[in-house]
Amino acid sequence: MKDQYQREITYLRVSVTDLCNLRCRYCMPDGVCQKAHQDILSFEEITEIVTAAARLGIRKVRITGGEPLVRRGIVSLCRMIADIPGIQEVVMTTNGILLEKYAQELKQAGVSRVNISLDTLNPEKYRKITGGGELDAALAGIRAARAAELNPIKLNVVLIGGFNDDEIPAFVELTRDNPLDLRFIELMPMGGEFGKAAYLPGDTVLERVPSLVPEAGEDGSVSRMFRLPGGQGRVGLISPLSRHFCGTCNRLRLTSEGHLKPCLHSNQEIPVRGKHGEELLETLRTTIRAKPRQHGVLDAEHLSEAGRAMNTIGG
Ligand code: SAM
Ligand code: SF4
Repeated sequence: MKDQYQREITYLRVSVTDLCNLRCRYCMPDGVCQKAHQDILSFEEITEIVTAAARLGIRKVRITGGEPLVRRGIVSLCRMIADIPGIQEVVMTTNGILLEKYAQELKQAGVSRVNISLDTLNPEKYRKITGGGELDAALAGIRAARAAELNPIKLNVVLIGGFNDDEIPAFVELTRDNPLDLRFIELMPMGGEFGKAAYLPGDTVLERVPSLVPEAGEDGSVSRMFRLPGGQGRVGLISPLSRHFCGTCNRLRLTSEGHLKPCLHSNQEIPVRGKHGEELLETLRTTIRAKPRQHGVLDAEHLSEAGRAMNTIGG
């Protein structure tokens, strides 16, 4: 289905939990998560909503969180979603900590690829930014994802000035011999730690690594793509602040407690839990119609209007 600005809405991001086994300081700095199990959607409820969404033209589903792999039975949920008629692609965003355990099972369940978040290659800095996480576990997860052919693996790096900008060249270097998509993401002002001083525009990467050569990206992609000459992997810049991509936004979001969000950076939420049949379809249509042309002002000075921490939205 198209929204009122003629954008075809084909992509649903499903947050399956607010819980996380890390505490990234820009995402959930106070580490609080208060929802009880009965407050979050069951697998059956999620499947019913995605089935209805598929009838309206949703083709791609991303499983996210919190950390999706901490939700018990997550592999079964992935299989249930992959089996829904009309759903062509199921992907996941994860911190990778539990991927060593789950990568093969996810692939078998119909997950085609994963995005893995990794903001530093230094074990001490990793502990610091994630509130105690072990870099080795995340790296083992990346290796497991490769072994399970969850390809192409996308590595998400949030650019944080004064924290990891010194590692930009080392991150880019990873793409020389590895067929992975590295994506630098501008830090979004969601109320987490790190103020405007830490914000770096995506173009910083091009200043630090001038040898990067632009290339065409996929249709509908939110990244500008580059490659090292002869490099096997690619480097993407996702710049929600310096070059917002609202004009091609094709997505809806579903929170773990059952609220549809037409836009990441708006506080508009449409409850969908308990709706069935035509009422459920109409709620989804209402959400698509409610997509704004673009989000409100979002820059290093203006906090997102999302009204929630990122771990309760899913990125
Ligand atoms: N736990 C999973 C993970 O970390 O990949 C999935 C959920 S996490 C909320 C999804 C993505 O949002 C991650 O890549 C994370 O780095 C990103 N993210 C969280 N807070 C952000 C912020 N303030 N600005 C930019 N990206 C953010
Ligand atoms: Fe957890 Fe992902 Fe947020 Fe880090 S970014 S705290 S891994 S939900």
